[in-house]
Amino acid sequence: MEKKIEILIGVDELRFIVEDEFDQIIDLVKHNSFCSNCNEKTKIEMIEYDLSLNELNDVVFRGKCKSCGKNIGRYVEIGENKTFRNKAEILKRNKLNEN
Ligand SMILES: [Zn+2]
Repeated sequence: MEKKIEILIGVDELRFIVEDEFDQIIDLVKHNSFCSNCNEKTKIEMIEYDLSLNELNDVVFRGKCKSCGKNIGRYVEIGENKTFRNKAEILKRNKLNEN
């Protein structure tokens, strides 16, 4: 089995990686997430989320549904973008060196 590596990042670090797309990504996650508990509602807001980078350099958001409190997650693909991927790699390397 492939080893899954996820590294927690902060909001400022996400901003560093995605620059101008930051607001768009946050907006997507906050207002366009999916909750299996509340699937009747069209807009689910995610609150209290943590961010991490996965092995593909995509961003994983894990938080709670604002309506019902259930744990929900969302995956935002940014690793396909060369600039973002390079920055994500730099960030990951720096973080791994800290340990
Ligand atoms: Zn919900």
